[in-house]
Amino acid sequence: QHRSHRRYRAAPEQPTSVFRLALPDSCASGSATNARPPPGPARVNGHSSDARGRQSLKEDLQEFLDGEAPLHQLDDLTKVNPVTLETEFAYDISVSVLRCLQARYTADTFYTNAGCTLVALNPFKPVPQLYSPEQMREYHTAPQPQKLKPHIFMVGEQTYRNVKSLIEPVNQSIVVSGESGAGKTWTSRCLMKFYAVVATSPTSWESHKIAERIEQRILNSNPVMEAFGIILGNACTLKNNNSSRFGKFIQLQLNRAHQMTGAAVQTYLLEKTRVACQASSERNFHIFYQVCSRMPLHMTFGDTTRFLQPIYKGASVDERLQWHLPEGAAFSWLPNPERTLEEDCFEVTREAMLHLGIDTPTQTNIFKVLAGLLHLGNIQFAASDDEAQPCQLVDGAEEDPLLETLQIRTIRAGRQQQVFRKPCSQAECDTRRDCLAKLVYARLFDWLVSVINSSIYADADSWATFIGLLDVYGFESFPDNSLEQLCINYANEKLQQYFVAHYLRAQQEEYAVEGLEWSFVSYQDNQTCLDLIEGSPISICSLINEECRLNRPSSAAQLQTRIESALASNPCLRHNRLSREPSFVVAHYAGPVQYHTAGLDPVPPELTRLLQQSQDPLLKVLFPTDPKEKSQEEPSGQSRAPVLTVVSKFKASLEQLLQVLQSTTPHYIRCIKPNSQGQAQTFHQEEVLSQLEACGLVETIHISAAGFPIRVSHRNFVERYELLKRLRPHRPLSPHNPPDEGHSEHSLQAEEATLQPRLRDILDTLSAVIQPTVIPG
Ligand code: ATP
Ligand code: MG
Repeated sequence: QHRSHRRYRAAPEQPTSVFRLALPDSCASGSATNARPPPGPARVNGHSSDARGRQSLKEDLQEFLDGEAPLHQLDDLTKVNPVTLETEFAYDISVSVLRCLQARYTADTFYTNAGCTLVALNPFKPVPQLYSPEQMREYHTAPQPQKLKPHIFMVGEQTYRNVKSLIEPVNQSIVVSGESGAGKTWTSRCLMKFYAVVATSPTSWESHKIAERIEQRILNSNPVMEAFGIILGNACTLKNNNSSRFGKFIQLQLNRAHQMTGAAVQTYLLEKTRVACQASSERNFHIFYQVCSRMPLHMTFGDTTRFLQPIYKGASVDERLQWHLPEGAAFSWLPNPERTLEEDCFEVTREAMLHLGIDTPTQTNIFKVLAGLLHLGNIQFAASDDEAQPCQLVDGAEEDPLLETLQIRTIRAGRQQQVFRKPCSQAECDTRRDCLAKLVYARLFDWLVSVINSSIYADADSWATFIGLLDVYGFESFPDNSLEQLCINYANEKLQQYFVAHYLRAQQEEYAVEGLEWSFVSYQDNQTCLDLIEGSPISICSLINEECRLNRPSSAAQLQTRIESALASNPCLRHNRLSREPSFVVAHYAGPVQYHTAGLDPVPPELTRLLQQSQDPLLKVLFPTDPKEKSQEEPSGQSRAPVLTVVSKFKASLEQLLQVLQSTTPHYIRCIKPNSQGQAQTFHQEEVLSQLEACGLVETIHISAAGFPIRVSHRNFVERYELLKRLRPHRPLSPHNPPDEGHSEHSLQAEEATLQPRLRDILDTLSAVIQPTVIPG
């Protein structure tokens, strides 16, 4: 830091507003150079000869830490890592981030800015003051909300102001990601509440009964917003008692006065397997327990859903008889029925349905279909000794077109499309039964989404712009991963690629505007992995599609061999020699995942046809017979229409989503679960670290560290560092930068002498905080 040893660069014509040093705006040093920081550990050596100067720096740091952490903790947060930026970079940075997050979490500071991302730690305890109407108001009315403490309302408000600024792209999106139980749905819900309050006419803010009005607004919008989850989409899992088993993109529609006039929902990847198959200690979708509950449940609600305030009871005896769910009936697809949850609130579900315009007779039809699925789950097939004979039921023989369709496969072959009937094995019968249940439930879910959309969608001419909220599953890796995990991780790869591209593009554009010479160091691109999953002409998707189209009981081993031979040249494909099951391994950006190739069975077309013949009023709606409406799951070989398999359908919806996202300015909230037990005040470093990796945060920091993470506006820079300009350097800053006029040589020297200690103090202290504040921005 000695001036005599320092080489100054020629001052750029426009003072640079981007700094290489990892400091917040308020702490940025005067080193306006775009060189890398000097190698070697930074030193903590800030002995202050100027108590006031020191104090103001501490205040600055305090501001950086949002004024939340007391100073003794601040020291912890600003410690320097004794490792250079050049070595053990990723590890070192992860540790720094981890330490910083842990210290903040301990100090009950749950939100942290990380460049263009907001990291949200799940408090696992009620923190009502954090989401109060007053907080909403504070962020909404602040002249510069980004100067307030990091908060989801800060992201919400920034997003809203972007829409209002009408600078292209006007539409905005907020991508909320994280693993199960990390708080994605909570965050989305809070943001919706925020918009329900702020994206409204300005007069309501002036009312003296603001709080009441706000509450009312939330109350009104709530059943619709909650409906997705509580009606059909949520279940109790090991990770989250109220886990959303689907992804969703909610488009909040705003009119020209920026008031919310409606919304539209797109859902992704409902985990329909759960209908027929639940891991031990998990449950089926909440709705099944609700229709079966009969005991009055007197529940009080946690603070989050306080506004629901119901006293719940289940269905009446008459209703249950009407739905064919008599007293004492036991269902194999209803595991752990004794475990009742807050979420088993049948009254709320019914209320929400009424609110959506689903009248009582239609509700009855829905509950009957759901009861039918439970009965379907009780059908068990016995193994047959004679391959030519269909498997019989465990409970005795029964003649029924439904059973026959489960027991006998029809195959059409030859030019004349002759029909052959082949009895199914016991395992095939089980698969077909499960398949039927999944098909019905998925259609019911899609139908519900369309009902919700028609009830909340604004007329095309009553909205002009939108804010999109994306709440999707995070990256998943279990001991057993199937097609569902592949789709989820594929979506995460796509979103990560989009995020990186957006982030880098935004940086490059900014550097170009600033006139900085810049070339990026290389970073890990996940295109190779995406080529493996979705590339053309051959990829995992295309091979799975082909397998599904053949409409044969899939051979897991065959599929594995095909994937391994056709895609061997892709470095992201790995073979797991330890696994006995047919599988393959994909090296994702967040780590390798092993996928089993079993269980890719397509929906037999005869099942869809059977449902199309049903006389049940709801099934008629769910499975229309209109010949133009070809069954989406119908495999080829039966028709010449283009086939949409699960994978290709998902790929198409993902591409559509990315197109929408690309037309918006994205904002990112990464939710992190500090521990897997859901305990407050508990921070498990390893679990958090693996989530930081899985949500791409470590990767982002890599990229950020290669760029200039600090951006200071020209005005702020001048205001803050003006005093540096008055220093007379031993060598002039540049030939074009002479000392200010009106200052004699003598007065400059005198001024310099007084400024010197203060400046040294500033620089010393700043150098102490340069390295550890590695969270970009
Ligand atoms: P999934 O992917 O399984 O749907 P998720 O990420 O949507 O999980 P949430 O259901 O939003 O997770 O959150 C899980 C639980 O964590 C909530 O039910 C709530 O109890 C708690 N929680 C999350 N965020 C907060 C918060 N900000 N304050 C208090 N509690 C929270
Ligand atoms: Mg959720």
